Amino acid sequence: MHKDDQALIFELTKPGRVGYSLPEMDVPELDLNELLPEGFLREEEPELPEVSELDIMRHYTALSRRNHGVDSGFYPLGSCTMKYNPKINENVARFNGFAHIHPLQDESSVQGALELMYDLQEHLIEITGMDEVTLQPAAGAHGEWTGLMMIRAYHEANGDTKRTKVVVPDSAHGTNPASATVAGFETITVKSDENGLVDLEDLRSVVGEDTAALMLTNPNTLGLFEENILEMAEIVHAAGGKLYYDGANLNAVLSKARPGDMGFDVVHLNLHKTFTGPHGGGGPGSGPVGVKADLIPFLPKPIVAKRGDEFVLDYDRPQSIGRVKPYYGNFGINVRAYTYIRTMGPDGLKAVTEYAVLNANYMMRRLQEFYDLPFDRHCKHEFVLSGRRQKKLGVRTLDIAKRLLDFGYHPPTIYFPLNVEECIMIEPTETESKETLDAFIDAMIQIAKEAEENPEIVQEAPHTTVIGRLDETTAARKPILRYQKQ
Ligand SMILES: *Cc1c(COP(=O)(O)O)cnc(C)c1O
Repeated sequence: MHKDDQALIFELTKPGRVGYSLPEMDVPELDLNELLPEGFLREEEPELPEVSELDIMRHYTALSRRNHGVDSGFYPLGSCTMKYNPKINENVARFNGFAHIHPLQDESSVQGALELMYDLQEHLIEITGMDEVTLQPAAGAHGEWTGLMMIRAYHEANGDTKRTKVVVPDSAHGTNPASATVAGFETITVKSDENGLVDLEDLRSVVGEDTAALMLTNPNTLGLFEENILEMAEIVHAAGGKLYYDGANLNAVLSKARPGDMGFDVVHLNLHKTFTGPHGGGGPGSGPVGVKADLIPFLPKPIVAKRGDEFVLDYDRPQSIGRVKPYYGNFGINVRAYTYIRTMGPDGLKAVTEYAVLNANYMMRRLQEFYDLPFDRHCKHEFVLSGRRQKKLGVRTLDIAKRLLDFGYHPPTIYFPLNVEECIMIEPTETESKETLDAFIDAMIQIAKEAEENPEIVQEAPHTTVIGRLDETTAARKPILRYQKQ
């Protein structure tokens, strides 16, 4: 790697050097002091890097080479579905008629875009077994909050105001209790049993007339299918509560089972996971929410509807919880998901599920000899291992994750779900070949052997990356907001 690749952009700075060329200004310069309220104008120039266009290109190219993405290598991050995002999605999202329209355009001039949204809603209704869908929420957690606000509005419309609690299993994704809290509910945790499934006795004991909803995902966050889902639905419904399905990862049930048929009243999907929207790095997501008939009046407005041959934005929804996002959701991600659904077709989507589940079970069975398997039963699209055997040798799960970087892999999700000690959560996805899975398994086996024979190599990993082990807690808690010259 060239020396300059290592330098910070601030270290490449040469005063006066510029990376842009703008035409001479041919309009009068504005006095910012007149435009901005007093006190808002900075007193000193910002200390921005001064570099040439070539410097900045090389800087970002170098950064991109240090990065890890699905297009550069295997990325088995559990509960994140880092599958391949087909490039045809990008082509379609860049069509002029999709990329260059404005949300304030008259409906008659964007009929194609509205038809796509309507069709996508219809596909998602079919896939989830729900009665109506909104495309507005911008991501999974936003969908959760939207769904809970609808459940809240539903209970309130029935004069049922004592329902202040949302029940969430201890294996749930962290966003579930967070969304419940933001929606104004109190979270009640329900335990998992020794098989990793929701403990039915515990569920019965916490559900009652103050229950607004049970939030659940199936398969659950351990990658296990909740076999008693119909009984659980009955317990919650008998108490007057609603069932919320966290459908962020639909890879395990797509075209095989539907939340609507399992008794769920509300579901959100992460189009940026299962339906191949690019994600990671905080890019735009899309978290549509589907509901059963009795919750339709509370959906955010507008909904895309069809009147005769025309597609319209329906704002006439007096009981709606209102808008949850400016305009109509992250349209570009919805175009990508629509392209994916249409190019895969029903048989393709079924194959997604079959390969996602097969790949996860294949890896789990090949690795169980080398790592502890807390739940020895068939998994769905992901599975968890425990690094407790390696911990006894002084090697933590964090060390194993860091060592995987030396083999060129993005590590799996670690220390989540919380109810498994030294948890390692692996989601291979359906888009990886057997050769890739085998190579990753070999790396995991080698690391298990190193933990026994040469633990330092794991404890001190990574050895081959540009930067060694970071203090991630400090990096998150005390970010450096401004470069300071040494
Ligand atoms: C990713 C995920 C979420 C959150 O989705 P975001 O789009 O990141 O807000 C919620 N639940 C589960 C199970 C997930 O995997």
